[in-house]
Amino acid sequence: MPEGDTIRRLAEWINRRFAGQRCERCVTRDPRLVHVDLAGTVLREADAHGKHLLIRFDDGRTLFAHLRMEGSFKVGPRAIEPEWRRRIELWMEDGRLTGVDVPVLGIVATAHEDRIVGHLGPDLCGPELPDLDAVLDRLAEVPDEPLSGALLDQRNVAGFGNVYAVELPFVVGVSPSQPVGTIGGLAGLLGLGTAVIRTNAARGPQNTTGRKLQLDDHWIYRKRGRLCPLCATTLVGWEERNSPWRRVTTWCPTCQPLEDNRTVDLDRARRLLALHPARREPTWPR
Ligand SMILES: [Zn+2]
Repeated sequence: MPEGDTIRRLAEWINRRFAGQRCERCVTRDPRLVHVDLAGTVLREADAHGKHLLIRFDDGRTLFAHLRMEGSFKVGPRAIEPEWRRRIELWMEDGRLTGVDVPVLGIVATAHEDRIVGHLGPDLCGPELPDLDAVLDRLAEVPDEPLSGALLDQRNVAGFGNVYAVELPFVVGVSPSQPVGTIGGLAGLLGLGTAVIRTNAARGPQNTTGRKLQLDDHWIYRKRGRLCPLCATTLVGWEERNSPWRRVTTWCPTCQPLEDNRTVDLDRARRLLALHPARREPTWPR
């Protein structure tokens, strides 16, 4: 699933290609968009909040989208997918913007975007640094939530998806099931995770190791059954259906034991991410 960094990059891409251009023709094939016609409007800007994409037009309307697992946008060339999969197609002055298989699409008044994103926690990948104290406050209200579930809950913080929910606990040596109320040093974990996702949003592609910046690269995500890259213990995990937070999960039982109380290991994180450009981000824990 695209995470906050990917959606932010998509918004920037739409901006570079289409901001300031008039929509010349608009075709929708989504029951929620019946009667919606954006032809004649100018695309002002694309933005993101967490995993929500917001495309604003000069008539005061915002097209919002959430891609979940299956959706995508084609920016520029004509989409080749069959018509019924192209839920919305906009003919812009300089190319086509097509939402393919996008499961959540709708129109809202730009002034009322908070109806769509108002319930979300601070946006990790926005132009402003997120308020991590506000995230800590929200986590303090759900002390029994397992770490990965709490990171995935967009009401706590908007932007982390399952890659980060698997990788961040590994990097700091905490079990994904460790209740957040029993974790010492959560602020350091959040600062580190924010630094990594913001770096990926700015540079792309998504990378949680810093080792092969031209490749999508992860420590243990979807590597269940393989060996821990640090201690060579066999990685364990859950399929989606067995996971309390309904996502594929992997962890190292030696590096990430579930304990009564556990402290985030920032030395381990600094060692593992020694080559990651996230180290230059302001939220990186010093
Ligand atoms: Zn290990």
